[in-house]
Amino acid sequence: MSVTGAPGSVLQAPRDPGGERPRTAVSPGVRELLAQGRKSFSFEFFPPKTAAGERTLWAAVRRIEPLAPSFVSVTYGAGGSSRDRTVEVTQRIAAETTLRPVAHLTAVGHSVAELRHIIGRYADAGIRDVLALRGDPPGDPKGDWAPHPQGLRHASELVELIRQLGDFTVGVAAFPERHPRSPSWTDDLRHFAAKCAAGADYAITQMFFHVEDYLRLRDRLAAIGCLTPIIPEIMPATDFRQIRRFSELSDARFPAELAARLEAAADSPADGHRIGVEYATAMAERLLAEGAPGLHYITLNQSPATLQIHRNLNLEPVTR
Ligand code: FAD
Repeated sequence: MSVTGAPGSVLQAPRDPGGERPRTAVSPGVRELLAQGRKSFSFEFFPPKTAAGERTLWAAVRRIEPLAPSFVSVTYGAGGSSRDRTVEVTQRIAAETTLRPVAHLTAVGHSVAELRHIIGRYADAGIRDVLALRGDPPGDPKGDWAPHPQGLRHASELVELIRQLGDFTVGVAAFPERHPRSPSWTDDLRHFAAKCAAGADYAITQMFFHVEDYLRLRDRLAAIGCLTPIIPEIMPATDFRQIRRFSELSDARFPAELAARLEAAADSPADGHRIGVEYATAMAERLLAEGAPGLHYITLNQSPATLQIHRNLNLEPVTR
C-alpha cells in the first residue's frame, strides 16, 4: 500500500504477504498496560549492518522472546540503507515472533510525504506502535539542526502526524539531564509537554546513570501538569571504552566511582560484566521502588547483560 501524500488514515487490516501473517503479540499495548497501572519492560535493538550482525540480533531476539516483554523496539538509522533495515527488522519481528515491535521513526531528511509512506508500511505490517523522534543532524549529531524543506521541525509535529494517520500508540524521547541543545530547563520542559499535548502516550528516557536525574525530571514535569508516564532507559555499563563513547555522544554524566571500577576491570570482560550488571540492577530496583512505570533496556543486540539484570529483578512476564 502506498500512502505517499494521501490524506486520512493509513490503517488497514494487516496484509498477509505470501502467507506470512503478522503474529499476535502476547502483550497488550503500552498505553493499555500503563493505564492498568502495570509495569512495562522492554528491550531495544538496532538494525545490523552485516549478515553476522543479523545472526547476532536474531539470537538475542529469540532469547528475549520467552520473557514476554511489553515490547521490543528497533532504532531508526541516520540515513540510507540502515533505515530500510529498521523497517525490515521491525516488520520481521511482527511477522515471525510473538513480540510487539515498536518502530522508532525520525524526521531527519524526510519530507512529510515520505514519513506518511513509512508509517503506512508499518500499518500494513500490523505495527501500531511508533516512537516519534526528531533525530539529530546527519554526520555531526551535535551540529545545527536543519529540517527537510518539506519536512517537520520538531518531534511534536511527528506525533501529530502519526496521530492523524490512525490509532497508533505513540512514544517520545525524554531527557533526564535535559536535551543538550535546550537553552534552559524551562524551554526543555515546555517542549516536552508539547509532545505530550500532541498525543504522546508515554516517553522513554535518554540513557542516564544517576537516579536523581530521572526523579527530578518527573517532579519538574509534574509541577507543570505533565503526567505522561516516563519509562527510564537502562544501559548496562559493562565496558569502559564503550560507555565513555556513548556518554560523550549523549552528554550523560557518568559516575566517577563506576568509571574507576570499570577502568580497573578494562582487561577483564567478566569483571566489567559483573560491575555493570550490579550497578544497573541497583539503579533499576530503585527506579521501580520510586514508581517508575517500567524499564527499557538497551541491548546493543547482545542479550547477556540485560538478561542478567532482568533476571535479578524478577519481574512478571507482560501478558494479556
Ligand atoms: P524534539 O522533541 O523535537 O526536541 C529536540 C530539541 O528541540 C530540544 O532541545 C527541544 O527542547 C527543542 N524543541 C522542541 N520543540 C521545539 C519548538 N517548538 N521550538 C523550539 N525548540 C523546540 N535518534 C535516531 O536517529 N534514531 C533513533 O532511533 C533514536 N532513538 C531514540 C530513542 C530514545 C529513547 C531517545 C531518548 C533518543 C533517541 N534518538 C534517536 C535520539 C534523538 O533523535 C535525539 O536525541 C534528538 O536530538 C532529539 O529528539 P527529540 O525527539 O527529543 O526531539
